[in-house]
Amino acid sequence: MNYNLYTKEALIKRIEQLERLNSELLRENDSTLTFAWSGNLGQWYLDFESGEVVFNMLKAQALGYAIEEIPTPTPYTFFTTLLHPDDYFPVMKNMKDHMDNLSDVYEVEYRIKAKDGSYKWFYDRGKVTQRDSNQKALLAAGIVFDITSKKLNELKIIEEKQKLKKSSLTDPLTGIMNRRAILDELSQRMNHHLYNFEYLSILMLDIDNFKNVNDTYGHIIGDKVLNKVAEIVSHTIRGHDSVGRYGGEEFLVILPNANCENAQKAAERIRKKIEETEFDEVGRITISGGYTSYIDESIELLIDKADKYLYEAKRSGRNKVIGNPC
Ligand code: GH3
Ligand code: MG
Ligand code: MG
Repeated sequence: MNYNLYTKEALIKRIEQLERLNSELLRENDSTLTFAWSGNLGQWYLDFESGEVVFNMLKAQALGYAIEEIPTPTPYTFFTTLLHPDDYFPVMKNMKDHMDNLSDVYEVEYRIKAKDGSYKWFYDRGKVTQRDSNQKALLAAGIVFDITSKKLNELKIIEEKQKLKKSSLTDPLTGIMNRRAILDELSQRMNHHLYNFEYLSILMLDIDNFKNVNDTYGHIIGDKVLNKVAEIVSHTIRGHDSVGRYGGEEFLVILPNANCENAQKAAERIRKKIEETEFDEVGRITISGGYTSYIDESIELLIDKADKYLYEAKRSGRNKVIGNPC
């Protein structure tokens, strides 16, 4: 259609005629969307030249807006400015890629701010249905679903899974890593060491004469002492070090980037801290430790080496840390 030849009046008539046709087509579409099975389905058309979007009311209603509150014509920015900040760029990129013919469809999930300030989740899928001779996108049509309740359920399940995973790796008494978790961590660190040639040392700690604590003050107080020891060790080690409860009153500390001198210093720092701490009801206790550096042995042998030094510390009087000579 060559509109350059049209008079102004003819153009206005043509626009009115197209608008009538447009509203009729939209009305027809809207009525098919009011079928019970259409549920949470909305529909939209985006004109790229004008940046305007035409849609059925579902999307606006889901966001808590009345028809009168939405500007007509509606710039697509009315919706995009309400997008969650984390979702804005992924949504825009997805649309741009599709406009540039880099993807078959525009397909995204995003959060959008409702009138009451809460975020709703939508699944949006569309396609450029008209392009000019240079493949420039002219019009896109799409459908949009309100998936808020489904998404919230999914997020709840993910959160519960994470909680479950965390609790399966945490020692319930002390809140530090359990045996499984600390051994997993050690095996990861050992792998890392093999590829990066960084130092790696471990330290096995065991509370001295802990049976006496239990026998004298009872298990409940014994548990409190264990808890406090775990807390002290956790606070005494450095950021990338880790500690786990290896057994009853034994703790395994992993010291990445630590050579035997560093390990000796870390072990001594912990031993001293425990010795200086006043434990409620029990008073003073001591701890012994065995440290060693990793070469390329198996995890069992590495722990065994630290255990042997620990045994030596016990045998030679306790309240000591012993390790491989530097
Ligand atoms: P040593 O200096 O040779 O290590 O002597 P010890 O008494 O600490 O060693 P032993 O292996 O004879 O006893 C360890 C004690 O740790 C026995 C056990 O009752 C206690 N224990 C282990 N796990 C727990 C726990 O979860 N809570 C409490 N309260 N005690 C525990
Ligand atoms: Mg002990
Ligand atoms: Mg023990």
